[in-house]
Amino acid sequence: MSSKNNFETNNINSTTPPNGALTEQITYVKHYTDRLFSFRTSRSSSLRFRAGEFVMIGLPGNQKPIFRAYSITSPTWDEELEFYSIKVPDGPLTSRLQKIKVGDEIFIRKKASGTVVLSTLIPGKNLYLLSTGTGIAPFASLIREPETYENYQSVILTHTCRLKAELAYGYDIAEATYTDPLVGSEAKNKLKHIATTTREESPIMGRITKLIKSNRLFDILDGNPLDPKIDRVMVCGSMDFLRDSKSMLNNMGFKEGSHREPGTYVVERAFVD
Ligand SMILES: Cc1cc2nc3c(=O)[nH]c(=O)nc-3n(C[C@H](O)[C@H](O)[C@H](O)COP(=O)(O)OP(=O)(O)OC[C@H]3O[C@@H](n4cnc5c(N)ncnc54)[C@H](O)[C@@H]3O)c2cc1C
Repeated sequence: MSSKNNFETNNINSTTPPNGALTEQITYVKHYTDRLFSFRTSRSSSLRFRAGEFVMIGLPGNQKPIFRAYSITSPTWDEELEFYSIKVPDGPLTSRLQKIKVGDEIFIRKKASGTVVLSTLIPGKNLYLLSTGTGIAPFASLIREPETYENYQSVILTHTCRLKAELAYGYDIAEATYTDPLVGSEAKNKLKHIATTTREESPIMGRITKLIKSNRLFDILDGNPLDPKIDRVMVCGSMDFLRDSKSMLNNMGFKEGSHREPGTYVVERAFVD
């Protein structure tokens, strides 16, 4: 197991949370496919984060709980926390996590971090959020954050998966955003959700990098091709997707941002291969 986000603790009694971790209760679980599910947990008032950040989560019950990075999909103002997860059949964490039920306990480390946050981008007009698979997770939080709509005139969320069923969480989140009492009216005017598949037939097919390079995305949006002067881009997905996106954006004149030096695009890994 070579994942860099692996984190093991030394505590012996793992029903008590390791240092820096909180114990929360599962409040809701929804299974989407045999590979994907979402869940909600209680949220201690000491757990603060910025939209787009991730935390480390683990499960009680082992001698040494294994912690993994998880993007928080809920907005910062939500009383609970929400996550969207893969099920890896033999995965050290998700082979157990996929069996959680309402009332079960989960460990969540308090420290949140991440690059796909609003402050790593310089001001712009349109915000593009490009995701594959569970890479939609940080953007599910960002599209429900009022500041996102204060900062941008339009927000375009793209979600690409192999199969149609894998797009369902994105549709649920978009619907929850459009009908949300806090951001719903802004989102109806400014948010566009584009779902594409690469393997199964669907209304929009193809990798998003291909749809951008061919200008098909902008035909669908009735807009203009990407322009580093006015457009800002966040990317979250597999390493291959990040590599292709970075190469495309660099060629278009975009500059990668960081906490130290905000830029015109930022990337986050959705998982470690
Ligand atoms: C910054 C960051 C944020 C993350 N956010 C999320 C998130 O919001 N939701 C989530 O499900 N995972 C997320 N991950 C991945 C997560 O940390 C774990 O890898 C995942 O939960 C599987 O854990 P595991 O112990 O069962 O298997 P691991 O040993 O961690 O993974 C085994 C293998 O499964 C594959 N894999 C792992 N995670 C994924 C994934 N998400 N999608 C597709 N293939 C995967 C990889 O090939 C990996 O090598 C994130 C990772 C990072 C680095």
